[in-house]
Amino acid sequence: MGFLNNIQEKVGKTEIVSRFDRELEKTEQKIEEQYAALGKAFFAHCEENCPKEYAAYFQEIQNLCREREGIEKRKLASKGLRKCSVCGQVIPLDSAFCNKCGEKLPPLNEDADLSSCCPACGEKLEPGAAFCVRCGAKVPTAE
Ligand SMILES: [Zn+2]
Ligand SMILES: [Zn+2]
Repeated sequence: MGFLNNIQEKVGKTEIVSRFDRELEKTEQKIEEQYAALGKAFFAHCEENCPKEYAAYFQEIQNLCREREGIEKRKLASKGLRKCSVCGQVIPLDSAFCNKCGEKLPPLNEDADLSSCCPACGEKLEPGAAFCVRCGAKVPTAE
């Protein structure tokens, strides 16, 4: 009996330990969320005038946001769409004007993100590429 009791005791302890692990994990996750929220609030508060000891973080976040914008644009472009930069309306890629707010849209070849991306799949292209390396589509040459 002593042997069995011993096992039960061990199982019980393992359960308790894993319960603590779950609690720890949950609490650590909450801490991370608060750090992230703090970072966002700080960024929004100081974006115009950030303390120079944090400048590298600000720079990196701004770069990543620009990168995300580019990826989103190319994702839409791969579906033959683009987004109006003024009102956010999603419209056909070759539109010259926004059909919602009437904003004149810059030509695609003047858009740094779009002029360098495959019109069929949105892959970023090397300057002067004639074919897309991902899908093989012929790249229209800029006049
Ligand atoms: Zn618009
Ligand atoms: Zn492609």
